[in-house]
Amino acid sequence: MERLELSVQMRDLLRNPQRVVTIDLPLQRDDGSLSVFRGYRVQHSNARGPYKGGMRFHPEMDLDHARALAEVMTWKTALVGIPFGGGKGGIRCNPKELSDGELQRLTKLFTYRLDGLIAPDIDIPAPDVGTGPREMSWICDAYARLHGYAPGVVTGKPLNLSGSPGRVEATGRGVATVAAWAAEANDIDIDRATVAIQGFGNVGAHVGKFLAERGAKIVAVSDSKAALRNSNGLDMESLFKTLIDERAASSVAEAGVEGEDFDRDELIAENVDILIPCALSGAINADNVDRVQASLIVEGANLPTTCAAQGALEDKGIPVVPDIMANAGGVTVSYLEWVQNNSGDLWTEDRVNERLEGILREAWQSMCRCAHDDGAPYRLAAYLIAVQRVGDTLAQRGFF
Ligand code: NAD
Repeated sequence: MERLELSVQMRDLLRNPQRVVTIDLPLQRDDGSLSVFRGYRVQHSNARGPYKGGMRFHPEMDLDHARALAEVMTWKTALVGIPFGGGKGGIRCNPKELSDGELQRLTKLFTYRLDGLIAPDIDIPAPDVGTGPREMSWICDAYARLHGYAPGVVTGKPLNLSGSPGRVEATGRGVATVAAWAAEANDIDIDRATVAIQGFGNVGAHVGKFLAERGAKIVAVSDSKAALRNSNGLDMESLFKTLIDERAASSVAEAGVEGEDFDRDELIAENVDILIPCALSGAINADNVDRVQASLIVEGANLPTTCAAQGALEDKGIPVVPDIMANAGGVTVSYLEWVQNNSGDLWTEDRVNERLEGILREAWQSMCRCAHDDGAPYRLAAYLIAVQRVGDTLAQRGFF
């Protein structure tokens, strides 16, 4: 970041979150016993607009994750030029071990304890790992009990609760769109490209679906339990239907789709044109980066590549489209949902998708221009643009 010539004070402001909240959440379980969970919300920056970022329910969620992911959101919203800052939060829990009733009570308790800290013009949560439209409905409902119905307090809601058409698919659609642009820029024919996707949840499954529709061959996918490969291309339609639409199997290896199952941690080493990590942070790291054979990496997940691995990939000449560009489709449609909520308007899915593509294209082109002009890898270019924008806005707002 030396290139931006930021003062030490400005660097400190940009690096550190504005607010860090840790909350104990005592939950009476269905069997009458008591469990105490821990919730987090980190508000990194609201220089450019309300804090914005997902709520993660995962056994490994902690303050470090929340801090790192909140900062990523600040740069992401700045890069795509939407009027939000960055935040992130969640609960350290294993949602699979809680009943629906317990999860609902826990989510609502967390929302009540965050009173005053979230609001449509203060901080707007959204889905992330382990959460989706159902949890967002619960947040919306708990907030409404305190303040009246204000759907703009949370995005990623179901369609019939002031959600936006296209939001569920948005992150995956954006990753697939950006992957196609990146393929073209790197002389890979997307119609014939082979692709490996790590993680087959909301993001990964939609990326697979949209890339297959464009003609790419998805030859390997994985989830937390297993991985599945087929050099002729996996049947994405069946995988999507069984795992996402019907929730009829709990792993890609149990979906009844033709292919060979293998160790999930080996997916990173598949010999493919495009590798798309769509699971958790640190998936590509110093221990496995030597085994990466892909020609291009597109980050569907947040922070899937460690700093050490990024350096090694640059040395190997493998371009990486960073998370703040590649998966920005989700927060972009969250913004469009918030716009609809605040105006009371309802858009068609075509209008949402058209606007999404326009916003992503502008960010993609700025990033490519900067990468070209500065001779910088995509990640550095994306950060140069984003950090400059947030720094400029902070300075414009002035200091006491
Ligand atoms: P999700 O919970 O729907 O899916 C996560 C998937 O990753 C699941 O299939 C899970 O089994 C799999 N997984 C977990 N550990 C794994 C491992 N070690 N190896 C392989 N697979 C593993 O979550 P999601 O919403 O799809 O989010 C995935 C990533 O995308 C996260 O990094 C998240 O922060 C990021 N992201 C999500 C959104 C969104 O709108 N949901 C937006 C931007 C970024």
